This record gives sequence, structure tokens and C-alpha cells, in this order.
Amino acid sequence: MQPRRVTRQLHVGSVAVGGDAPISVQSMTTTKTADVDGTLAQIYALAGAGCDIVRCTCNEEEAAEGLAQIVPRSPVPIVADIHFQYKLALAAIEAGVQALRLNPGNIRKADHIKTVAREARDRGLPIRIGVNAGSLDPDIAERHGGATPEALVASAVRELDYFREVDFDDVKISVKASNVTTMIDAYRLLAETVDYPLHLGVTEAGPPPAGIVKSTAGIGTLLAEGIGDTIRYSLTADPVEEAQAGRTLLESLGLRERKGVDLIACPSCGRAEIDVIAVANAAQHALQARNLPLQVAVMGCVVNGPGEARGADLGIAAGRGKGHLFVRGTVVRVVPEAEMVSALVDEAEKIVEEGIEARLAAADVNAEAIAAAEREQLVELRGTNVNHSDERIERIREIAQP
Ligand code: SF4
Repeated sequence: MQPRRVTRQLHVGSVAVGGDAPISVQSMTTTKTADVDGTLAQIYALAGAGCDIVRCTCNEEEAAEGLAQIVPRSPVPIVADIHFQYKLALAAIEAGVQALRLNPGNIRKADHIKTVAREARDRGLPIRIGVNAGSLDPDIAERHGGATPEALVASAVRELDYFREVDFDDVKISVKASNVTTMIDAYRLLAETVDYPLHLGVTEAGPPPAGIVKSTAGIGTLLAEGIGDTIRYSLTADPVEEAQAGRTLLESLGLRERKGVDLIACPSCGRAEIDVIAVANAAQHALQARNLPLQVAVMGCVVNGPGEARGADLGIAAGRGKGHLFVRGTVVRVVPEAEMVSALVDEAEKIVEEGIEARLAAADVNAEAIAAAEREQLVELRGTNVNHSDERIERIREIAQP
């Protein structure tokens, strides 16, 4: 392994990228972003699989409105993927995303690019310049005789120049190609040209196993040369497979630690009924000491918690002075708040001994009905707009108007 290349550092929400930050794993949701619950369920599944940052498409106004509701409830930072309409980048910023990805081949007007960069600069938001061999700006492709490594880097450099004109350099860059050798050469050239953090990926790698082999060849080669700060496998598969593959590559190269108990926790939002950080820390401590090989979720509210984390083996969600213990999204017991962590540990031990199906069969028959009644009460008490998403959606509608 070559020493890691020295890069600047930026922050995508709580996740540092570049510098001495751990190399992060990214993936992208395949749901419609306007489908808030479906997208959040996929984001939680990705977080559970070891994904650090999730990208969601922002391809229409409804997607931006969805982001306004997704971001406050996502356990990991969200990047909005923007392709053709710069106004959707502005709408995504308004929705509260932690970063943008712009494709220079698709948004080409200098004024539009600079407008987005200015807004990102003023809000302290990073942008990934996401060059893609398949959608390269035609004049650059023509000058270089196609989507060569030099052409991919030239596209990134031109976008950087626009950004610099408005004093914006909170940037990471990708130069992806589906041809592995082109991708490797493009990143090597880019690494010699700039000191920004690099996001590695082989684009459109296809379904596993070939897609995994191609991605590993490209990403793994560069990581071994010390190039790369964040990675994404682009597979024609469930995105959870992308996250698992990325995580496995980093672990096998000794670039990320292997995990024991896998604890995921919601970020807490206007709906939280408990101090999520304190409960998550207590649960992590207790579960780690017992080394139980489970994925466990700690969720701040019963209104959305069990649904958002339904992919977890086990979880606890907070109600009013109570905890709803759930197994694979089904509430199996309602316990006093003071017993949330001990009930979680107790259930985790039983799942390891008896299995998920047996614990679902042993569920308190009244638990789901009690839980449903409490969820209704909470929505009535706190309303539906606890994260002030409605106000953001109003502003998005103004911004996105033609
Ligand atoms: S408090 Fe509830 S709605 Fe908010 S992020 Fe946590 S589980 Fe989701």
C-alpha cells in the first residue's frame, strides 16, 4: 500500500471527507425521492450495511419536497444528485441536504453553475463535481477525441474554474468511466492535478459478480496507490449490496475497522421523545460488552422509528415515557422508558439464543395495538409538521418555479 495522498478536508454533514478522515462508503437510493417513507427505509438499510453517506436523486420538484422531509430523519448525511436543472440544486439546498453532486456535462451554463456555487458557499455546503464519461460535455469530448482520461479531468478543471470565480472551493471530485483502465488513468491524472478529495467509482459497472469485480479492480487499484477519499460501487443491484461491497473492500485493505454489534441510531429530529445520543451510547456500551452479532436500532420516536428501521434485527423507539421494542419492524413489547436499554439487551440475548422467528412468535399479542394507539396520540399531540418541512416545501415551490 502506498501512503495516502494528502488532500484537503471537507465535511458532508457530520462525515469528514479527505485529509486524514477514514475513507467513507457511499451509495445511492433507487426509490423515488418523493416517496419519503420508502426512501428513508432504504437509507436506514444502507446505514446498517455500513454506508456513511447516501445520495438521492433530485430530478423533479417533488423530489426536492421529499428531501425536505427525509433529511431531518436520515441517520446519515444526504447528498442531492442534480443533473440538468440548476433550480433543483437551489431547491435541494433549501430542503436542507448536506451536499450536492453536479454533473458538469449536464449543467453547462456558466451563470447557472456560479449561481449554485454562490448559494452553496453562503450555506457552507460542499459540492461534488461528478464527471461521467457517458455524459461528458460534447465540446470537451471533441477536443480530446472522446471520453479520454484527459477529457474527464479537463471537464472537472473547467467546473473548478467557474467555482473559483465565485470563491467557492468546498469541493470533491469524481471522474468516473465504465471502462476500468480509463477510470484508473483519469483518477491518477486528477490526483497529480489537484489536491481536492476524490470520490472513486466505476460507473455503470453492471450486476454482480462482474460489477463487483470491475469496481474492485478500479477502486482497489487506486486505493492501494493512496488515491481516494470516499468510494461508491455502482451496481445494478440492491444498493445495500453496493454498501456491503464498499465496506468489505475498505476492511480487506485495512482502511476501515471490522464491526461487531452494528448499532444504528436515528439522528433525532423534532419528533424525538428521548435523548437519542444518551440512549444510543448506553445501548452501544451494553451490547458491545456482550458481543452480540445483531443489527440494533435506537430510534427517537415511535411515530416513525419502527418503520424507518424495519430492516434492523431489533430496535427500540421512544414513546411518551415508554419504549416500543420491535423485531424487524414489528412491535413485540412496550416497556417503561427507564427499562429501554435493559429490555433491548435482554431481547438481543434471546434473539441470539432462539432466533428472530421464535421471538416474533413470543411477542406480546397486545403490543402492536398499544403501539398504534400511542402513535396516534403522539401525532395528535405534536402535529404532523414537527420538522417544519411544510415551510421548506413552500420555499422550494417558489424557487423551482420556471
Ligand atoms: S425522532 Fe422519529 S422521525 Fe425523527 S429521526 Fe428519529 S425516528 Fe425518525
